[in-house]
Amino acid sequence: MIRFGPNLHADEAPFGEALGRRLAFGLPVSVGNDANLAALAEHSRGVGVGVRDLVYLHGDVGVGGGIIAGGHLLGGHDGYGGEIGHMVINPGGGQCACGSRGCLEAEVGERALLEAAGRSPEEGHQGRDAVRNVVDAADRGDIVAQEALRQVGDWLGLGVANLVNLFNPEMVIFGGMLREVYLGSAAQVRSRLAVSALAPQREKLRLRTSALADDATLVGAAELAFAHVLADPLEVLARAGG
Ligand SMILES: [Zn+2]
Repeated sequence: MIRFGPNLHADEAPFGEALGRRLAFGLPVSVGNDANLAALAEHSRGVGVGVRDLVYLHGDVGVGGGIIAGGHLLGGHDGYGGEIGHMVINPGGGQCACGSRGCLEAEVGERALLEAAGRSPEEGHQGRDAVRNVVDAADRGDIVAQEALRQVGDWLGLGVANLVNLFNPEMVIFGGMLREVYLGSAAQVRSRLAVSALAPQREKLRLRTSALADDATLVGAAELAFAHVLADPLEVLARAGG
C-alpha cells in the first residue's frame, strides 16, 4: 500500500494489489520500498555483507534509505519507517516534495545540487548525467560546481552525523546519485562528521559506495520475492501442487 508517495504522485494507492491483478499469475505479490530493498540487497549481497548494523542512503529525485540494525531492517510499526530522506536537517531550508521544509531530500537531492550549481532542470539538466556533470565540472576547477558540492556535502554530512549518533552503524553506504555526490564531497562529509558525530560512534565508522549500483533495488526485490520460498520450501512446493 502506498500511503503517501509525493515523488510518485500516488497517495493511498493499493499498489501491490493492482500489480497482482495486472500480472495475473495467480501468485502472491510482495511489494517494498525501493530504498529499503536496496539496503537489504547491499546487506546480503553487496558492500555490506557481514555487516550487522548499517545505514544505506539512496538518492535520485527523492532521497530514501534503509536502516539495518542487528541484521534486521527497521520498518517501524506499519513498515513505513526509515524515511531518512525526510529527516529535517535545516528547518528554514528548501521546500520538500512531502510538504515540509529542509528535509535531507530537499538539501542533498538531485534538485538541490543542480540548483546550487546554477543548472535549472527546465534547461534539460537533470538525471544522473546532470549530477555527474556537476562533479566533473568541480574536478576541473569550476568554482560554482565546487561550492555546490561543498554545500550539499555539508548537509549530507550533517544527516549522516545524526544517523550515526542515533544508530551507531558500522557502515554507511551511499547509492544512486548520492554515490556521485559523496565521491565529489567526501572531504566535506568527513569534516562535518568530525564536528557533529560523537567520537565513539564515528571512530570505527566506514563510509562506502554501493557495490550493486543501479541493480541494488531489483536484487532486493528478488530477495523479497524468494524470502518465503527459502523460509519454507516445502510449503511453497505443496501450494504449487508439486
Ligand atoms: Zn520531506
